[in-house]
Amino acid sequence: MIIVLKQGVTAEAVKEITGRLETRGVAVSHFSDIKRDFLGLIGDTSGIDTHQLQALKEVEQIVRVEEPYKRANRKFHPENSVIQIGNETIGGSQLGIIAGPCSVESEEQIVRVAKQIKAAGANFLRGGAFKPRTSPYSFQGLELEGLRMLQTAKQETGMPIVTELMSTKWIDEFVDSVDVIQIGARNMQNFDLLKEVGKTNTPVLLKRGLSATYKEWLMSAEYIMSEGNENVILCERGIRTFETETRNTLDVQAVPVIKKLSHLPIIIDPSHAGGMAYMVEAGAKAGIAAGADGLMIEVHNDPANAWSDGEQCLTPDEFAAVMEKARKLAEVEDRSIQAAATVLAK
Ligand code: PEP
Ligand code: MN
Repeated sequence: MIIVLKQGVTAEAVKEITGRLETRGVAVSHFSDIKRDFLGLIGDTSGIDTHQLQALKEVEQIVRVEEPYKRANRKFHPENSVIQIGNETIGGSQLGIIAGPCSVESEEQIVRVAKQIKAAGANFLRGGAFKPRTSPYSFQGLELEGLRMLQTAKQETGMPIVTELMSTKWIDEFVDSVDVIQIGARNMQNFDLLKEVGKTNTPVLLKRGLSATYKEWLMSAEYIMSEGNENVILCERGIRTFETETRNTLDVQAVPVIKKLSHLPIIIDPSHAGGMAYMVEAGAKAGIAAGADGLMIEVHNDPANAWSDGEQCLTPDEFAAVMEKARKLAEVEDRSIQAAATVLAK
């Protein structure tokens, strides 16, 4: 249930009504947009007398929210959320283009790729320092050393960095050095991890679980938001289906469905969806045409020798070519992609 309060209601009145509701056994979360205040009631609302509530002079409207996700629900927040990350945003008219290698491999590599993707129009650098690998014998990431290399690349290019956190053990290091904390598909329902990132103010990129429904995905966003961190960006990265020719199946419908259900921005990762470089352009274009707020694309200086996910990585030149096409398509959707530099940084 959401209680929409009248414009100009005082902080004391909000506190008074909140206290009254809490004695009925519900948790009350107070939030506001530029115009008004809302009280979201979470828990068993059967003991609440809605007629009595409606009679209060501060109350404008009572809205029943059937869905189990509240803070992520568009009913709680009709306007699209725009997430501010340094000088960049995700969810506004300019698309958020996150690119970079699957794994950070060396300082020289990450700095070089960062310059190249920036020149092609990317506005965020990605790179895994802690890698969720199917096999314990595969490369697991450079860990803290990788985070340090990402920071160097940020200093050299000014681009905010996006990287995956797999364990609460490293949360303080991530809060200190990362601009967007990525929660990977395999951890989408690691509820302890979600709660901990929810206690920070760092924006979170929440990837869809391998077989997660939209509702499960939004409930995971709700875990983060219910702890106070509302800066959540959703990322569709393909789901498991019966098909074996592709790594996963890109669910483009996630974009209109999520936009209908939620105010949170949603981006598309065509790299992990198809699992092969030749499919990335089609997935990226489909995502933009569907109305996604951005893309995450894996780019590697030497895909054939990448330490992880080489088969789905684009070279910097291939990435620049995809960006050219994506830029035109974005225009059709009244969106934009940062301009490319005339000379591609080498
Ligand atoms: C990644 O982005 O490097 C990654 C591991 O993605 P996902 O969690 O979607 O598999
Ligand atoms: Mn990868």
